[in-house]
Amino acid sequence: MGPKQLPENARPRTTAIHGGTRRSQYNEVSEAIFLTQGFVYDNAEQAEARFIESGDDEFIYARYGNPTVRMFEERIAALEGTEDAFATASGMAAVNAALTSHLKAGDHVVSAKALFGSCLYILEDILTRYGVEVTFVDGCDLAAWKAAIRPDTKAVFFESMSNPTLEVIDIRAVCDLARAVGAISIVDNVFATPVLQRSGELGADVIVYSATKHIDGQGRCLAGVICGTREFIRKTVEPYLKHTGGSLSPFNAWVMLKGLETIELRVRAQAESAAKVASALQGKDGFSQVVYPGLTDHPQYELNQSQMPGAGGTMLALELAGGKEAAFKFLNALKIVVISNNLGDAKSIITHPATTTHQRLTDEQRAELGISDGLVRLSIGLEDPQDLIEDLLGGLAAARA
Ligand SMILES: *Cc1c(COP(=O)(O)O)cnc(C)c1O
Repeated sequence: MGPKQLPENARPRTTAIHGGTRRSQYNEVSEAIFLTQGFVYDNAEQAEARFIESGDDEFIYARYGNPTVRMFEERIAALEGTEDAFATASGMAAVNAALTSHLKAGDHVVSAKALFGSCLYILEDILTRYGVEVTFVDGCDLAAWKAAIRPDTKAVFFESMSNPTLEVIDIRAVCDLARAVGAISIVDNVFATPVLQRSGELGADVIVYSATKHIDGQGRCLAGVICGTREFIRKTVEPYLKHTGGSLSPFNAWVMLKGLETIELRVRAQAESAAKVASALQGKDGFSQVVYPGLTDHPQYELNQSQMPGAGGTMLALELAGGKEAAFKFLNALKIVVISNNLGDAKSIITHPATTTHQRLTDEQRAELGISDGLVRLSIGLEDPQDLIEDLLGGLAAARA
């Protein structure tokens, strides 16, 4: 058994299907699920040797690595264009490990302040508890990044497209500022997806994903992955994760492998529908804002086009003029779009961040991040876009009644 070598110049759609494939002695077509915790050694000498150094196709224990998990890691690394990757039990395990494995007491981190709630908790509550100093900046303000990054800064962290307000951060500029002081840049690329944006080529050292979102794409399992250089993944991330236990289940890795096979087709179709939905809703009475990075009125439209050519992503943020009451009426009137806090699914999903994902924040924090009572976050799925438009316009009519 061993990985099949793809041509060096294989394109992303091909890589997403064949990258990292390993076949057992049966030469199965679909990837095998190695649902095993351990691996039998031929003799005691082999066990000893493997604990000293294990080769590419040698495994010890599923917390350290597993053939199905390895296939997923190699496939996503090939797709992302990084040397290596480490898979985790969830997106949060990936964010936590990418930061915690690298940092120690006394280190300084600069982070964008518009973050997924749990990412904010790691930076604000956990890292600071262990003596890491964290400075938060407005991610779109390059002068603020410049002022905050210091000679002793060890890492910068941001979501390339923020949740839920869809601010777009200048990846190249921020990563360059970090590199100039020897800090690593860790980019959460979930909203942008590995299909629409290659953050590594734009300068990110480490790219993290909640694979739960577009990589699974059908709302089944949790998973996460950290992509980076072989040195960072094997010397920094792997020892941390293999001893602290955030490893991915082989079954979930298999679901993610299958998700990658269709990710190009799904995400491109979802982004096309999102653009149609955004154009259909833009300017309609009842919405005080229709936020979509693919609309020319988005504050970072030009930047987004340079980072994500020809696309605006699969997410929208809509602000109902009538505040929470209108937002709730809007959600409750929808017949196709489901109310849930996940995203990236084949099913279109809507959520009211102020009362769910961002409920934990203070009123001041929410106001600072633009999370008003009328704001809803919409993840576009694979339904017929015309049905979605009709559903959303029906919801809008109900919200205004
Ligand atoms: C969902 C999400 C996460 C966390 O991922 P889980 O798989 O739910 O742990 C992290 N960052 C962003 C931007 C997300 O959307």
